[in-house]
Amino acid sequence: MADAPQTYDVVIIGGGPGGYNAAIRAGQLGLKVACVEMRSTLGGTCLNVGCMPSKALLHASELYEAAGKDFAGIGIEVKPKLNLGQMHKAKDDSVEALTKGIEFLFKKNKVDWLKGRGRIAGHDGTLGKVEVEAADGSKTTYDAKNIIIATGSEPTPLPGVAFEEGKVIDSTGALFLPKVPKHMIVIGAGVIGLELGSVWRRLGAEVTVVEYLDKVGAGMDSEVAVAFQRGLAKQGMTFRMGTKVTGAKSVKDGVELTVEPAAGGAAETLKGDVVLVAIGRRPYTEGLGLETVGVTPDQRGFVGHDHFKTSAPGVWVIGDVTHGPMLAHKAEEDAVAAVELIAGKPGHVDYDLVPSVIYTTPEVAWVGKTEEQLKAAGVAYKKGKFPFAANSRAKINHETDGFVKVLADAATDKLLGVHIYGPQAGELISEASMTMAFGGSSEDIARTCHPHPTRSEAVRQAAMGVEGWTMQA
Ligand code: FAD
Ligand code: NAD
Repeated sequence: MADAPQTYDVVIIGGGPGGYNAAIRAGQLGLKVACVEMRSTLGGTCLNVGCMPSKALLHASELYEAAGKDFAGIGIEVKPKLNLGQMHKAKDDSVEALTKGIEFLFKKNKVDWLKGRGRIAGHDGTLGKVEVEAADGSKTTYDAKNIIIATGSEPTPLPGVAFEEGKVIDSTGALFLPKVPKHMIVIGAGVIGLELGSVWRRLGAEVTVVEYLDKVGAGMDSEVAVAFQRGLAKQGMTFRMGTKVTGAKSVKDGVELTVEPAAGGAAETLKGDVVLVAIGRRPYTEGLGLETVGVTPDQRGFVGHDHFKTSAPGVWVIGDVTHGPMLAHKAEEDAVAAVELIAGKPGHVDYDLVPSVIYTTPEVAWVGKTEEQLKAAGVAYKKGKFPFAANSRAKINHETDGFVKVLADAATDKLLGVHIYGPQAGELISEASMTMAFGGSSEDIARTCHPHPTRSEAVRQAAMGVEGWTMQA
């Protein structure tokens, strides 16, 4: 840190997918750049306690369950034995390699990592100041022509359900449980609840999901949500929909939750040894010094922007801490656009084209509008739908649950939304995103030759279904 230049073109606060991508892009564009990160590793929530460790556990637990349940049917006889310690080690090793990879990219692109907690300490319109407090308490102040806030988010607590180590946990706790719970109660049937609930169910826990709304999947297309919930229930997950949690009591061998119907009614008690609170995340701006530049977060704590510029000159914002979906790839898009704008280039993000994926088995993925959104907006649309049960690759692989749904404008055929519940949906969705990014139509997908036999043919067949010429069903 001693050799680092004291005046930067850009100082980024936060080293997650928003911050590290902004730093690397700034370095590529020849800007003098530093990234402040207070964690001992780079990569933010996503690499350390989010996307990557959760996907490691999802992958390992999927194989564990398949080995015990499905392998025999295809002639592979094994009796899997869980070594949870090794499963965690494999996850931790992958995470370490990934976070080290970001350190390497910082060096390669001449990004200074300023280790410590960053605080904005004013901006005079030409130069801003960022104070960095190191772990030993020492403070250094850096000048920055531009400051990018990329401080991310943290789990939203549930009033009346206090966190307690090992018993009432957030997503980070659920990534490091030392033993498989007997009964895990998950509060919130959103992305985290369903992904991490799936992990522990596959490893042997009884899992009950308590959800306030009547629909799983936080905003997904309703037809998909119904099929998705049915699929998870078939796998053994129990759902208490339309239910609110009113309190929690820590007892000797677990936690007693008081729940009641969201619409009102008799209360009852659910008991679990572990409760995972997964009701959303909230922007993180603690101790950031926003007041020193006159920036006030909105009522929900988000820092607003106009083309990534906050209300303070030279102060920008990207990622989870500002509006839009709280996703790593959205943070990355924000990052590139903001830095390119700082460098005098055009920068733009189309939030309609940010895909969502839930990495359960099978996966759910979507991009664009849901049917409910189109109906609410009064848009006339056509629909094509194709089941994986009629897709030859899915049949051969015994992965026939799910379908693809393609929504296109009734008059112009412009692609408006694609929703996939099925095997490798997260990989399949990019074809839809790309078509939509080019302003393409359902016919563009329907008339593109797709390789056989692949699951991607289901996307094509659904697109063909928009004009009623599906051939493989
Ligand atoms: P973050 O990744 O939160 O990074 C912010 C960083 O800023 C942190 O490292 C923090 O330490 C640092 N920081 C904060 N304040 C300061 C300060 N004052 N000084 C210095 N450093 C500071 N998204 C996906 O797209 N796909 C997934 O599969 C996925 N899975 C997830 C699974 C889980 C369990 C969780 C919790 C999240 C998941 N997400 C996923 C969401 C994803 O992690 C976030 O959207 C993404 O990390 C946001 O990036 P960010 O850079 O805005 O913030
Ligand atoms: P979420 O918004 O996905 O789901 C929260 C769920 O909790 C919703 O269904 C909501 O109705 C429910 N809920 C809210 N308050 C409740 C209450 N009091 N009682 C019962 N249910 C309640 O939030 P999350 O699952 O915590 O995830 C947080 C963020 O992390 C999301 O924005 C998500 O995009 C991101 N994330 C993404 C991925 C991925 O891309 N695969 C994975 C994990 C997390």
